[in-house]
Amino acid sequence: MRYNRILVKLSGGAIAGDKAWGFDPKSLNHIADEVLSLHKMGVQVSVVVGGGNIFRGELGEEWGIERAEADNIGMMATVTNSLMLRGVLKARGDTDVRVMTAIPMNTVAEPFIRLRAIRHLENGYIVVLAAGTGNPYVTTDYPSAQRALELQADALLAAKNGTDGIYTSDPRQDPAARRYRMIQYNSVIQQNLQALDQSAVLLARDHHLPIHVFDFDTVGVMCQICRGEDVGTLISDSGDVLV
Ligand code: UDP
Repeated sequence: MRYNRILVKLSGGAIAGDKAWGFDPKSLNHIADEVLSLHKMGVQVSVVVGGGNIFRGELGEEWGIERAEADNIGMMATVTNSLMLRGVLKARGDTDVRVMTAIPMNTVAEPFIRLRAIRHLENGYIVVLAAGTGNPYVTTDYPSAQRALELQADALLAAKNGTDGIYTSDPRQDPAARRYRMIQYNSVIQQNLQALDQSAVLLARDHHLPIHVFDFDTVGVMCQICRGEDVGTLISDSGDVLV
């Protein structure tokens, strides 16, 4: 096995499915199946869920809401999604699932305590990390890299919908666009490629955390990545290699 402990970053869009907003039961079941099959393979799994299917801080301006407050609303959205994910995971198996939040809300979830989260993973529990960093002015990309490092994950798996990796240009607009099999952190940053927020890529670069960008709609893709198969795009210290 290439990876024994990973952190999956899922955006709220993965929960909404084809709809722009809210929850799609089919998509939630797909997420649960993918996470559970990884877990069954013996991989220790933690998940950071975004909140874009409910609210994003950047929408605050449109609503006349101060940015920091809008970000608080976004963080609450990630908690709602995390609880929904726990509910669906629990309904589909007898695996222990722990939601840990960066914003304390002790009656619905545990507070995030790094060593306790590691212990949960070692015990074979799935850990869902909610409320990002607990602070405004970032999205859930940065906390995904941060938590992956804190939990000593072998890699960050950044799930995408509608694209299977990082391309030289937008494949929907440019038929000559080519996918990178591997790309260096600095190339992603310098070319401003929209894989993850730059802050997340910088943090991963400084601590040599591999990031995989892949199409989450493909069944079994995370298992393939953990087994060492060449799927999607790997962001790492190695060179830039096109498919
Ligand atoms: N957010 C925040 N701090 C964090 C993580 C998230 O303020 O540490 C807020 C931010 O407003 C963000 C929203 O929560 O827009 C939802 O997260 P994100 O945009 O990453 O959701 P996704 O696009 O992945 O669905």
